[in-house]
Amino acid sequence: MRKHFWMIFISLFSCLFFFQKANATNSIRNEYENTGKVIWEVKTTEKIVALTFDDGPNPLYTPDILNALAKYKAKATFFVTGEQAERYPEIIKREANEGQEIANHTYNHHYKDDSDSDNLKEELMNTANIIKKITGKKPTLFRPVGGYLNKQIINTAFNNGYLTVLWSWHQDTKDWSKPGIEKITENVISDTRPGDIIILHDSGGDRSQTVKALENILKILYKEGFTCVTVSDMLYRSESIVPKPFQVTP
Ligand SMILES: [Zn+2]
Repeated sequence: MRKHFWMIFISLFSCLFFFQKANATNSIRNEYENTGKVIWEVKTTEKIVALTFDDGPNPLYTPDILNALAKYKAKATFFVTGEQAERYPEIIKREANEGQEIANHTYNHHYKDDSDSDNLKEELMNTANIIKKITGKKPTLFRPVGGYLNKQIINTAFNNGYLTVLWSWHQDTKDWSKPGIEKITENVISDTRPGDIIILHDSGGDRSQTVKALENILKILYKEGFTCVTVSDMLYRSESIVPKPFQVTP
């Protein structure tokens, strides 16, 4: 009996701890979201979602990803690193020519240094200069390395002309951990909601599962009536920018 009491007590305590932790994370998200300087998803009733690819470009995977997107006339946002963009400018050029959005994911992809605002400013500027040199356009969206966020990072990005873009919490494919093509696909299509921002990776390791999963994801999303657009396009079409009476219903 005593054994049961302790088991119940420990379970209740862990639940409470977990609940408080989840609540704390939610309240930080709310606080950050209210500044208008960072987004996790976009408010819209239109059946649109934004696929995002981090850490590229990579000659082994990005061209196949672009081929799949072109097949479905889908648009996506590539959060590229300055280092990779400098190495593979032809892929960046192709992304831009095909109407894909190119966004800033720092130069070096360092985890710790991002909390230092001077260093982040330099990383953002270096990357933006490389992208502008190749495409003629400066990026306006930024994703912090590993999704790590604090006020300093958000403000540094904002003061340098960037909106910080995370991803929908129910749309973290964890494709970097190579969970299998089916799992990556399932993660996206099992709970797709209008305005979702979906995270995938086109570099930083073996991304062959991501490439194969993307074909399935696009096929299913389009069958369900979703359209894949860039993050900027989705923001432009969002409820907060386009007033309800002026929204065109298909
Ligand atoms: Zn990354």
